[in-house]
Amino acid sequence: MVDLRAFKLFTAFAVVATSVFAQNHSSEQSEAQITDPNQECTTYSYPTVAQNIANFPTIWQPATLLASDSAGQALWSKIASGVPNIPPKGQLNGSTINVTYDSVNDPDCWWTIHQCTTPKLTGLPSDVASIPEPKSMGYAFDDGPNCTHNAFYNYLSSQNQKATMFYIGSNVLDWPLEAQRALADGHEICAHTWSHRYMTAFASQDAFAELWYSVKAIKLVTGVTPTCWRPPYGDVDDRIRYIANAMGLQTIIWKFDSNDWRVGTNNITAADVDADYGLFISNLTAGTFNGVGGIMLTHELNNFTMQEAVNWYPQLKSAFSHMVPIGVALNKTQPYVETNYSLPTFQQYISGQITAVGNASTTTPGASQSPSPSSATSNKKSSAVTIRVSSSGTWWTLLSAGMLLSGLLL
Ligand SMILES: [Zn+2]
Repeated sequence: MVDLRAFKLFTAFAVVATSVFAQNHSSEQSEAQITDPNQECTTYSYPTVAQNIANFPTIWQPATLLASDSAGQALWSKIASGVPNIPPKGQLNGSTINVTYDSVNDPDCWWTIHQCTTPKLTGLPSDVASIPEPKSMGYAFDDGPNCTHNAFYNYLSSQNQKATMFYIGSNVLDWPLEAQRALADGHEICAHTWSHRYMTAFASQDAFAELWYSVKAIKLVTGVTPTCWRPPYGDVDDRIRYIANAMGLQTIIWKFDSNDWRVGTNNITAADVDADYGLFISNLTAGTFNGVGGIMLTHELNNFTMQEAVNWYPQLKSAFSHMVPIGVALNKTQPYVETNYSLPTFQQYISGQITAVGNASTTTPGASQSPSPSSATSNKKSSAVTIRVSSSGTWWTLLSAGMLLSGLLL
């Protein structure tokens, strides 16, 4: 005998499931279902971005502070007078030809010279270059969102693994639905500047603009305002640290480099990257991380860097006691300016509560309000992104929707 009620429920559920799981560029959930890399990287127009693009500098070009940006101008005018009198260094492409600098004493704590992470300027916090938890790894990826990241993010989800994603503002506006996936999957989002140039080469107002518009892009697209950033190439000094700190951005760096980003340049090969991953694990074995845990520079830059991360995940997982997002390692339970989203503590994470607690209500992305990273004022607005609590949570949501619909049919 056919159970008509069950059949109707199934039918209703199928309708809901189909609408949610379509592979297209209409929503974060639909984008996340695309498996063909060519389709993933087909450009699309996202209304929220299209409607606000005039409020940003030109994508992928070095940022300047727009005259029409009253919120940005107001914040910069508060910060500007306190910026230390340290001249810009070199060129935006990293060239240091003709730069004169006391590299012996390193008066500006210029990371690029000796990997200095403890500022010489008083009042500035040290960079985060390690995590407090011994034998653990702060797991993070730079340069996203990459349009072909679904396979990689699917893998992380399959492993119940969260990470910190350092997103480039220009990439966020190019691939907004991919940026939303990080939040939906429970990853932590930090800023990685607007155009990915060498930060110490910028005039101070332009350096501010690089940070400001990357944070603003993330806020526009995901609904959250990051409170952390990582300098491209590690290029930071006390002038840039001052600006970031004044904007409420914690500077996060690394002590180990996988060199995945260098493959194809300067004769760096995949074997070199494997060697660097292996070296990171050797350091663990040798006791380097007995006091504090490690952070290694790895990327969401291209298919090679993402595949390399997948290839090495099992070995990292078995070698390190714990692999956690950097904010989790720091017990930074409120990673954003907005208070409606939190991260688990380290203890919660390693006890199995790996998912950020967030506002799971579905809202329409589109808020164009300006971020206020220097302000501790809470923002109770709903997140633009539906938090994907877990795979079972997703199905529960679908089932609820299906039951609701079936109730209408019955
Ligand atoms: Zn980078």
